[in-house]
Amino acid sequence: MKRVVFLVDMNAFYISCEKTRHPEIEGKPAAVAGDPVNRTGIILTANYEARKYGVKTAMVLREAFRLCPDLLIIPPDHSFYEKKSKEVMNILSDYTPIVEQNSIDEAWLDMTGCETLFGQPAESAKSIMERIKTELELWCSIGISENKFLAKMASEMKKPLGITELWVKDIQEKMWPLPVNHMYGVGRQTAKKLDGMGILTIKDLAQANKEYVYKRLGKTGAELVLLANGIDTAPVKQNKEDMKSIGRSTTLPRDITDIEYAKSILQELSDDVGMTARKHGKKGHTVQITIKYSDFNTITRQMTIDATCNMKDIYAAGEMLLENNWSKEPVRLLGISLSGFDNNTEQISLFQADMNEGKQEDKIDNLEETIHKLRQKYGMEIIKPGIHVKKEKL
Ligand SMILES: [Mg+2]
Repeated sequence: MKRVVFLVDMNAFYISCEKTRHPEIEGKPAAVAGDPVNRTGIILTANYEARKYGVKTAMVLREAFRLCPDLLIIPPDHSFYEKKSKEVMNILSDYTPIVEQNSIDEAWLDMTGCETLFGQPAESAKSIMERIKTELELWCSIGISENKFLAKMASEMKKPLGITELWVKDIQEKMWPLPVNHMYGVGRQTAKKLDGMGILTIKDLAQANKEYVYKRLGKTGAELVLLANGIDTAPVKQNKEDMKSIGRSTTLPRDITDIEYAKSILQELSDDVGMTARKHGKKGHTVQITIKYSDFNTITRQMTIDATCNMKDIYAAGEMLLENNWSKEPVRLLGISLSGFDNNTEQISLFQADMNEGKQEDKIDNLEETIHKLRQKYGMEIIKPGIHVKKEKL
């Protein structure tokens, strides 16, 4: 079967993250850069408005101000970008379990065989782009191909908000005319050497004598010749995290004392925990809740249940813990987690829904599985749990 690989690359990532919390920079030239007070340091990311003035990544701040005197500068906040990056990766992992993060702002997805679930590659790419845009207010470009190299090359071809397909059959027309330094994997040094060998375009490299390139550039050179011909067999490797627990918590908009309101919050959180557990094929035995009071005093309480990834079971345990530990003290944060994962848990298939009749538990499993899929396809809002989120009067 022909592979389908996506490269999702976030556009102007740092500054776009900043825009989500600094809406005032909308439409104005702005950049994330070091030390704006002393006007030293370099541009880390410029937005598209600033790029129109010629402001570029790695440019010295002084130079950037010369080109664009009105440039707004925001100092970098890496932990914020890490957090945003995780949110992006979370969305991506709704589409396939095989996600390989290549950097803070990009990842490959192995989408082989996902057509039945999400439609043609271009359609699922559109859905990914839309979700990232509406849920995170961030932009991305997506390259689609049959391997990682071509997907990466494709993602560079149209920015921002571009979806580009680049299959092996298209490379002569779309990729070969490009200068060789546009090739992913060719750095400045290599480009210089290639230049010295008379290899100026990707086509030159594709048609170069492999032995000759190998002699001059070694193994990397021989690999580059293959890549220039669109040949890349490297698999998309899932970034494995050893998951010990899956938890969600939220700081409440204000301190609360109403247990019914607390329950509705806990249900939302349980829902999220259950979905994540299902996505990773994990069933856990331990449900733990966290309650942080307005004086920042925090308690955790846990109980053991039959291994599950069902939101209903997770919430039922959480609700019991909450009822047994609720006091009149105002609460500022609530959390719930699932841990004690069953090692023998079979991988819970994301791709095969078995909606046949079965035991009641299987039916719940199937129902949640279906909800999970619908949400992957249409977003979180499509189905909400059956308890109303009762809002307290403020
Ligand atoms: Mg990138």
